[in-house]
Amino acid sequence: MKKEKAVVVFSGGQDSTTCLFWAMERFSEVEAITFNYGQRHKLELDCAADIAKELGIKHHVLDMSLLNQLAPNALTRDDIAIEQKEGELPTTFVDGRNLLFLTFAAILAKQLGAMHIVTGVCETDFSGYPDCRDIFVKSLNVTLNLSMDYPFVIETPLMWLNKAETWELAETLDAFEFVREKTLTCYNGIISDGCGHCPACQLRKKGLDDYLAKRILELKR
Ligand code: ZN
Repeated sequence: MKKEKAVVVFSGGQDSTTCLFWAMERFSEVEAITFNYGQRHKLELDCAADIAKELGIKHHVLDMSLLNQLAPNALTRDDIAIEQKEGELPTTFVDGRNLLFLTFAAILAKQLGAMHIVTGVCETDFSGYPDCRDIFVKSLNVTLNLSMDYPFVIETPLMWLNKAETWELAETLDAFEFVREKTLTCYNGIISDGCGHCPACQLRKKGLDDYLAKRILELKR
């Protein structure tokens, strides 16, 4: 374990909770930051707070309601349906979200004396979000270092994993059951396995089914 401090961008979902466990194994001090940008379900914030409390992680919640004011989207507005038209980004995409979140996380990290910023962004299942791409994260990393004259390292443990591999990572961190039972991924605000119908649940379930099938195959060997 490195005697270094990390800040995890944390939503209470499967990916960022897995990242939290990843960071706890790797760094001697870990804190979490959650952004309140008027999510449809306040439950997301409660879920993040509960997980941080249970794991004994200091939890910072930052108000980012400005983001909703600038860019109304399906994550914050009941009157915008969650959908994806052929060749377009889904309506859950929010322009500039990761740019802003990572920038604010970096400002906090520097205040806390943390060098590492951990985020669960991923190119594999990313629905085409431009600010989840590796090239964007690397570019922002350079910009943040230059802007604050500070050696930030943005860590992206999930960047090249598919959803099944993210479940596998949780298992190797002894966090599989925790992540399955306590995280909230569902767009309809239902914890754990969720509503089962929304795009987020379908993606999560497919990954889980693939991983469980692989695990059974390995047990049979
Ligand atoms: Zn759902």
